[in-house]
Amino acid sequence: MAGIVNRRDLEFQLFEVLDTESLTSRPRYAEHSRETFRAVLDTAEAMAGEKFAPHNRKADEHEPRFENGRVSMIPEVGEALKAFSAAGFIAAGHDFERGGMQLPVVMTQAGFSLFTGANVGTAAYPFLTIANANVIERFGTAAQHRKYLEPLLAGRFFGTMALTEPQAGSSLSDITTSATPNADGGYSISGNKIFISAGDHELSENIIHLVLAKIPGGPPGVKGISLFIVPKFRVNDDGTLGAKNDVTLTGLIHKMGYRGTTSTMLAFGEQGRCIGELVGEPHKGLGYMFHMMNEARIGVGMGAVMLGYRGYLVSLAYAQERPQGRAPTNKNPAAPQVPIIEHADVRRMLLAQKAYVEGGYALCLYCARLVDETRVGAGESAKRDAGLLLDLLTPVAKSWPSQWCLEANNLAIQIHGGYGYTREYPVEQFYRDNRLNPIHEGTHGIQALDLLGRKAVMDNGAAIKLFAAEVRKTIAEAQPDPVLASHCTELGAALGDLAATLQALGPVLATQPTLALANASVFLEAFGHSVLAWIWLRQALAAQRGLQQGIAVDAAFYRGKLAACRWFYRWELPKTRQWHELLRSLDDTTLTMPPECF
Ligand SMILES: Cc1cc2nc3c(=O)[nH]c(=O)nc-3n(C[C@H](O)[C@H](O)[C@H](O)COP(=O)(O)OP(=O)(O)OC[C@H]3O[C@@H](n4cnc5c(N)ncnc54)[C@H](O)[C@@H]3O)c2cc1C
Repeated sequence: MAGIVNRRDLEFQLFEVLDTESLTSRPRYAEHSRETFRAVLDTAEAMAGEKFAPHNRKADEHEPRFENGRVSMIPEVGEALKAFSAAGFIAAGHDFERGGMQLPVVMTQAGFSLFTGANVGTAAYPFLTIANANVIERFGTAAQHRKYLEPLLAGRFFGTMALTEPQAGSSLSDITTSATPNADGGYSISGNKIFISAGDHELSENIIHLVLAKIPGGPPGVKGISLFIVPKFRVNDDGTLGAKNDVTLTGLIHKMGYRGTTSTMLAFGEQGRCIGELVGEPHKGLGYMFHMMNEARIGVGMGAVMLGYRGYLVSLAYAQERPQGRAPTNKNPAAPQVPIIEHADVRRMLLAQKAYVEGGYALCLYCARLVDETRVGAGESAKRDAGLLLDLLTPVAKSWPSQWCLEANNLAIQIHGGYGYTREYPVEQFYRDNRLNPIHEGTHGIQALDLLGRKAVMDNGAAIKLFAAEVRKTIAEAQPDPVLASHCTELGAALGDLAATLQALGPVLATQPTLALANASVFLEAFGHSVLAWIWLRQALAAQRGLQQGIAVDAAFYRGKLAACRWFYRWELPKTRQWHELLRSLDDTTLTMPPECF
């Protein structure tokens, strides 16, 4: 059976491209070493293979049911999650004193990627719990840490993020859930949320919803949004569970993929008895939630990568085994058929998948590494720079894999021919599961607006300038290598195109934002492809270093990296030229098409 990931690739990314081991020289990670990092990956890989992967299909075929007021699901989900919590994975990034492993973010993301790759539906429960706990740790009070954070980290409570409402999906300023202050300092929550993942189940003792709501009388729009802890069961000050809170599951949503995760419609305060606790200060809720969402968005990108990666490995194994047809030069019908990997068009589909998924993996791990630099970087300016770059790259880390690793899943189906279209083979599920990723955690269109309308131009383009400087550093390093020199020229040209586009769009953004932002999703694609070209050049440099060391067993691996890099530069990067031309022409075709003409 094909694995969850190519472990050689994961170690290449961590240790040869990102120099993760150097983090152990920072005081926070001083007790770690390459060996402890590897041990975490070993445990994660074994547990993902033994506890998560085996029920991936079963959970898809037996989605959670809502019967007699309760949510039921196959028992394997709970068993896997018990093992996950018991191994300490929920608290993996937290301090030793909190029972954590004090791992860098790049390592927690790397470890977690193995669980998402094995079973994205089951992994969604700890994914949300970890993100939820991070927010409460960062913005909650000591009492909230005791009541909620500790049981979350221990895996006794699970968490959710409850933002979306039926009338307010992308447009969170329009939420109407209210939080009315009570005399005792708590709040009465009232409203309806939809699509809340893991919103009800019996996998944990309690569920801690992080709910966005508005305190009556606050500022309008997003500035009036506050964040509340709303438990399924109230929690007494001594940590014991109290009465059930007034949170009602009004229905489960039946989805195309991610079927192992409950998707819920929740009513808060139907009987006027839903109690919530404010997190941090009033009206700052969206900022707190975005704190959670920035890391979550890298996690969403990583989820998309892992589904793409699984499809790639499965279709690679299939292509090596499936005999079909002969070489164009072989006209002898009695000659044996060749495995389909011998056909150039099948190799095209494999190379495309390899370039998308290994590129996406490298990007998400790079962003996770940046999160570490924002926390333990050498000096304030290094931390600030890492934060700026991370802000710019987060929409790409979320969106690029969601688009292109989904395309990888599409190609994995194609390689299987008719068999790929059946439910007897796993590739169709990977595609269905992955189709969520361009939708949740901010749709593709919303990420594009965030990138072009905000991130690319903030502080006079400071983040873009920093990005360009990083790219130039890589180019300078790679330029003397004859194998990489032409890539350097092409990447330099793409960078020039990016600068020219921003120069053209900048003044229009200030005067006619509707026109400038009309093609924001094209900008996201063009910028995303340039980022990935850079990420591939970084990998190619590391592969060349590896080849120079002359370790024979690794030669094919490194040559594969160089070939995938070359593929990206030949087949994908040139597309950005056309996208930039469209952007600079301020094409208004979409704007001028009247709705009644469709
Ligand atoms: C399986 C699943 C799990 C989810 N889990 C959660 C969860 O745990 N918690 C939670 O709070 N939410 C969750 N969501 C909700 C998800 O975040 C929303 O579906 C998403 O934000 C989009 O909102 P919407 O569905 O209302 O679509 P809409 O906002 O109505 O968007 C519809 C389309 O219009 C486009 N659009 C909207 N506004 C603009 C604009 N201003 N400019 C350009 N284009 C625009 C969008 O890009 C999209 O293509 C989940 C959704 C799904 C499907």
